[in-house]
Amino acid sequence: MQRCGPAPVAGTPLAFAPVLAGLMQDDFQLALPYALRRLRSYPGEGEVVTLTTAGATRAAYPQITARIDRLAHALRRLGVTPGERVGTFAWNSQRHFECYFAIPCSGAVLHTLNIRLHPDHLAYVINHAQDRVIFVDDTLAPRLAAIADRLPSVMRYVVMGETPTDLPNAIGYEELLADSPETPFDYPEIPERQAAALCYTTGTTGEPKGVLYSHRAIVLHSSSLLMTDAIGLQASDRAVLVVPMFHVNGWGWPHAAALNAMTLLLPGPHVQPEPLAKLIEQERASVIGCVPTIYADLLRYADEHHPDLSSLRFGVCGGSAMPPALAQALHDRHGLRLLHAWGMTETSPMGAVSRAHPDPVSPKQGKAVPFVELRITDEGGGELPWDGQTPGELEARGPWVASAYYEDPSPDGFNDGWLRTGDVAHIDPAGFVQLTDRTKDVIKSGGEWISSVELENLLMAHPAVREAAVIAMPDERFGERPLAAVVLTSPASAEELREHLRPHVASFWLPERFAFVDSLPKTSVGKFDKRALRALREAGDLGAGSER
Ligand code: ADP
Repeated sequence: MQRCGPAPVAGTPLAFAPVLAGLMQDDFQLALPYALRRLRSYPGEGEVVTLTTAGATRAAYPQITARIDRLAHALRRLGVTPGERVGTFAWNSQRHFECYFAIPCSGAVLHTLNIRLHPDHLAYVINHAQDRVIFVDDTLAPRLAAIADRLPSVMRYVVMGETPTDLPNAIGYEELLADSPETPFDYPEIPERQAAALCYTTGTTGEPKGVLYSHRAIVLHSSSLLMTDAIGLQASDRAVLVVPMFHVNGWGWPHAAALNAMTLLLPGPHVQPEPLAKLIEQERASVIGCVPTIYADLLRYADEHHPDLSSLRFGVCGGSAMPPALAQALHDRHGLRLLHAWGMTETSPMGAVSRAHPDPVSPKQGKAVPFVELRITDEGGGELPWDGQTPGELEARGPWVASAYYEDPSPDGFNDGWLRTGDVAHIDPAGFVQLTDRTKDVIKSGGEWISSVELENLLMAHPAVREAAVIAMPDERFGERPLAAVVLTSPASAEELREHLRPHVASFWLPERFAFVDSLPKTSVGKFDKRALRALREAGDLGAGSER
């Protein structure tokens, strides 16, 4: 067998008892109050810029850390005690950034709520987490007001913005801060293993599950974002954070900003290509982080309007597979290099980054970042070789990888201390991971696997295809066959698309069926929603326009 992943470590508790203890300051707690102290001591020239409907607002870090102190005082006044959960229901903004630090640094747990959840899911996660207070953008407040009578644990709503709301027990954010003393807040010493933040998975693969991040995990994860072989965020960066701060800690970029005082450019609700392109131009942004669908929108806009994107050092692309054709077009036509990154809610999220790959448009997700270990396993849980071909379920472990789900005793999702990611991947001898599917999306035809992701990437490389998602269809003879749902920008027939695929894949991979649709269902974070697509197919709603 070829070289496999990292050698197993004896996982007995005895391994944690030193035979001869080192004489370093090992009690120094890796907790967020440290990050806040650092931001206060070394605020640099950085600022937080927020796009609002009335234009951009900006604040330098000394001003922001003073507001974080006031917010921490206010939380105490509201009666929030250590360990209690405090929700946020908000776009990316300076106030959301302030919540990111005041809540965990005062000892409570920041629970970022996904603003796109269905009301039933939203009520479920708020009740499951038992949120005591929720900070909400005024424009989003009606969505919470509609379910407020189903949220008995919530004692106060803090409204960020100007618009009056129907929420019971609501108080204005600025009012709350104005009533706080200007004196610095006396942050408690927080043990690094204490919970700092809570985020529920988006439920694309089942019910939402809570991932409870410790202070230590967040501090270590965000410091790894600064490593040059990982994302390499720098103090001089001006980073556009398009990834929602309600999704996996905003990829950890707000925490990284506390460590290096880089500028954060927060688009609020203005995540359409035009305001984003203008933000990049006007603020001379140097990095941007978003999912492929947003890059695809940005590419279409840039092809037509030619904004000046030359200030960007690179863009980070994660959350779903980066179609190579998209990366190539952004690179060739607009000089933008995309860094491909893989991760999930359970991995804080950064697990692998393509930084070291020589091909800037490689579909590979990259190598495990330092401190994260990755391996692939077969159906029995046995480890598979790193030969760049054999697919298996990707498993991860490391200091910022979940070890269990919040208030969920089921051991599902873990294999001998490793997180089972539900992703199918192969790993090459150099350690580069390439995802081929999710275990639930894999198409098994005549006993052989067909990679839906590879078919999608190839289809999206066709000039007439804007979006493509491939799902399994039950088939009497082969068990399953692929069905490609495609959004076209110009006319193309099923036969033409099959001919386009033919040189690249085995013939049994070629889909017999194509559904030409106006749009594809997307999840709350902009990924193709294959569960919804399968439901459409089962209901016969993909039929219109289908072609064999
Ligand atoms: P959910 O599991 O609810 O969709 P996450 O946002 O945690 O929510 O999604 C994590 C999943 O997203 C990964 O398990 C993987 O399937 C997919 N993903 C993340 N990054 C990439 C990437 N670079 N390429 C392909 N898929 C990715």
